[in-house]
Amino acid sequence: MSRVSSIGIDAGSTTCKLVAIGRDGAIVGSRLEPTEPRVEIQVQRLLAALRDELDAGPEAPVIATGYGRKLIKEATRNVTEITCHARGVFSALGRAGTLIDIGGQDSKVIRVGDDGRPVDFMMNDKCAAGTGRFLEHTAARLGVPVDELGGRALSAPGEEAISSTCTVFAESEIISLIARGADPDSILRGLHRSLVGRVISMVRNVGVVAPLMLSGGVAQNAAVRTMIAEAASEDVVLPGEPQLMGAYGAALLA
Ligand code: ADP
Repeated sequence: MSRVSSIGIDAGSTTCKLVAIGRDGAIVGSRLEPTEPRVEIQVQRLLAALRDELDAGPEAPVIATGYGRKLIKEATRNVTEITCHARGVFSALGRAGTLIDIGGQDSKVIRVGDDGRPVDFMMNDKCAAGTGRFLEHTAARLGVPVDELGGRALSAPGEEAISSTCTVFAESEIISLIARGADPDSILRGLHRSLVGRVISMVRNVGVVAPLMLSGGVAQNAAVRTMIAEAASEDVVLPGEPQLMGAYGAALLA
């Protein structure tokens, strides 16, 4: 019998994730790639490769979540990202609390109840400020790889204030700062502060139930984690694989 009991797919706007779990709920395999324009074809390819690797047949249920979830024909069911992230993080950390999920093009704050279900939430998917895209724009302009952004911001000698919350205006501000000879790492630090300010105002709306928990790709950014903890005066905890939590939660909900 296959050791795969279900598969979760998170077809996100920036990355596409698949997680297979075993009967005990532990992750037994996963895939993560930048989302392609035809996500339904990409998922077919990733699903075939994952099943092949784990020697699994088509009998294990497949649950889809994320922006492109309705396009996934292989899915037995599709579930919102709010429910999946809450469930994934609740299982990974074994506790309730306020969850902040920062992805490539949206961010969400979810109050996770004692049973792992969302009690309340707020979502920003209308504006790039407060999302990974906000940092990526500047990273590209400054020639800094995304996974170095947080470390560079934290070790910056100073902090340049970025007053615009809009990505487009923030970019013009950054161009002016560069032209005036400002230190690039201090610009990055200011940019992280601006992103965290957006996220914290959502946290205050939804309410803080300690601990603050993080998921999504941007949770891997150390400056984001540190600044959220400072701004909220709360500890921040995150699962081992924050970017996989939507897909993991989907697999668990099967
Ligand atoms: P979505 O589910 O919305 O497609 P993800 O949760 O996969 O998005 O997050 C993608 C975002 O995570 C991107 O904006 C990317 O810049 C950011 N990211 C990915 N890896 C890292 C890393 N190692 N450090 C910092 N940010 C990262």
